[in-house]
Order: sequence, then structure tokens, then C-alpha cells
Amino acid sequence: MLYCGVCSLPPEYCEFGPDFEKCKPWLVENASDLYPELVKEKIAQQLGGMTVSDVGNSSKTQEEEIKRLPGGKIKKKEKLEVLVERVTRNKRKCLTTIKGLDMFGVKLADASKKLGKKFASGASVVKGPTEKEQIDVQGDILLDIVEFITETWQNIPESAIYFIEDGKKVPAC
Ligand SMILES: [Zn+2]
Repeated sequence: MLYCGVCSLPPEYCEFGPDFEKCKPWLVENASDLYPELVKEKIAQQLGGMTVSDVGNSSKTQEEEIKRLPGGKIKKKEKLEVLVERVTRNKRKCLTTIKGLDMFGVKLADASKKLGKKFASGASVVKGPTEKEQIDVQGDILLDIVEFITETWQNIPESAIYFIEDGKKVPAC
């Protein structure tokens, strides 16, 4: 069992621990698989003061180049945003889908584990209708999800989170 060299919690709990900032360098060295976003942050710093979103954007640009279709047409630009939708399967069963966390460098498997723990319910990574992966969480968590996302992944601003209501995109804040 691995414990953090700084706060002595198991590394996956460091971010809930007393001083996550101080744990970060240790985590990058010893538990980088748990905190891929920290590694990104470090790389970004080494690249000279770029922010995490800058790094995300530059790799996006490359992806977009590749997506250029024959004839010079460019596929529609994908916006960096998180979409949250409540889906009612039948009268009793309700689930909340979350799309786009991966655009912010979040590992979806890791995110679904965190969501399952936080909301004490089943959460899983599934392929959405457009082949993109999304997270399904059992139950209606719309009231708490924005706060959870912005606190857990601080590179995701509240302004990038939207609810889908009756097929319409509504800003979460
Ligand atoms: Zn720690």
C-alpha cells in the first residue's frame, strides 16, 4: 500500500487532504497515474508558464489538422465544454450523463470512480450515441454536480458547464 510522503494519506485522497498543494510534487513523482492533470500542469510549467488549458488547446489544434476532410473542409470545431443531462429511463429510473470531461484532460475512468464515491451510486463510462465516451451516474445529481466538478477539477470553469434541458443547452451558472 502506497501512502503519500507529504500528508501520509493514500494518494487518491490527497486532494481531500489538508494541503493538496504541498502533495502535488510528490504525487507527480510517485502517483502520476492517479493525477494525470498534475503531470500536465507540470509539463505546462516546464514549457514556460503556459496554463493547462493552453496545453489542451495546442493538442486540440493538432487533432483538428488531422480531421481536415478532403476538399479542404474542416470538421466543426469542438468546443471545450462539459454537458450534463438528466435522462429518465422510465418513471422511476433516472440517470445523469456527463459529457466532455475528457476534453479537459480528465481520465473518465478515474472521474467515474470519484463520482460513484461522491454520490454513493453507480457510475460508469459508456459510449455515447456519437461514439464519444460519456459518464452515466445513476440518479439525479444535477443539484450538486457543478460544484463537484469545479472543486474536483479546478481547470474546469463553471462557465464551461452546461445543462441540457429539453434538448436545449442552458448555462449552469
Ligand atoms: Zn498527500
